[in-house]
Amino acid sequence: MPAECVKVIVRMRPFNQREKENGSKPCVTVYEETNAVELRNTQDNDVKSYTYDYVFGAETPQLQIYQKTAFNLVESVADGYNGTIFAYGQTGCGKTFTMIGDPSSDTMKGIIPRTFDQIISIINNNSDTNKKFLLRCSYIEIYNEEIHDLLSKDVKQKYDLKEGQQGVFIKDLNIAVVRTTQEMDRYMQLGTQNRSVGATAMNKESSRSHCIFTVYIECSVTDQKGNERITAGKLNLVDLAGSERQSKTQATGDRLKEATKINLSLSALGNVISALVDGKTQHIPYRDSKLTRLLQDSLGGNTKTIMITAISPSDFNYDETLSSLRYASRAK
Ligand code: ADP
Ligand code: MG
Repeated sequence: MPAECVKVIVRMRPFNQREKENGSKPCVTVYEETNAVELRNTQDNDVKSYTYDYVFGAETPQLQIYQKTAFNLVESVADGYNGTIFAYGQTGCGKTFTMIGDPSSDTMKGIIPRTFDQIISIINNNSDTNKKFLLRCSYIEIYNEEIHDLLSKDVKQKYDLKEGQQGVFIKDLNIAVVRTTQEMDRYMQLGTQNRSVGATAMNKESSRSHCIFTVYIECSVTDQKGNERITAGKLNLVDLAGSERQSKTQATGDRLKEATKINLSLSALGNVISALVDGKTQHIPYRDSKLTRLLQDSLGGNTKTIMITAISPSDFNYDETLSSLRYASRAK
């Protein structure tokens, strides 16, 4: 697979109140012109440097992130290709801000609501009467290697992965037909609400789950002879579980089991992406986790993948930032 099918992006958020108050110092410098990130250890002044496809500093607006990352991918999904956008990183570093942001604000809305605008405008601007679109969406959560449907009323129900002729799919999953950005927004908000309802009901921490909002775009074109040709593209928008390490000493029983499984999905994803980028490995270890099995048809092959790694600017988070930058450069 050509490496340019995987794009790796690093986004640094601004200092938050707590970091300002606890007197932590900046330890990350972002060079947008050269797409480099420098990480300085404020204890011994050791400097590590990494480059990515794009890097964004604390001031970069949501719109610019969208234009440089998701825009082209969404165009190709409308043409029938599959694509995936991941937000990776330590809890509190901007994954949800990047993926969802504030959907009611034109400047603050994140990638997911912007894809709705772009997809609906592609469909509405289509003047070819022989071309018809069918747009659908689903929203799921993977927690502890169990799948939940965020568009279902029963947040506790577990869903199974099945393998059929069209590949891996989730049995009985709600896939809603949508026609407008308002409808898509409503499903996104319903799912996000169900995510926190489920977290409370099952006493789980929502930062430990992976959420996947999927948009399915089918296009049927009828030629002059009346033959119909259908293309189907799928866009996966993934807000990953926090990448921070679980302290082995504090986590016991269910919490430890859970931590191990979450690390399993994230490390399986890292292994799949680096095997794809490497290009030499014949065996891509998709089967190692629910997340990678489910996304198998949207990672590698004829698809496009974007990984956005969210990081903190503060030396308070040095170790986690180092591990996020390393994970991201493995994917490079
Ligand atoms: P995560 O989903 O990775 O746990 P969040 O997206 O919830 O983190 O971000 C944590 C906090 O930081 C939120 O209050 C969010 O609004 C803020 N934040 C994150 N990234 C940015 C950014 N690039 N610019 C401004 N505020 C941000
Ligand atoms: Mg979040």
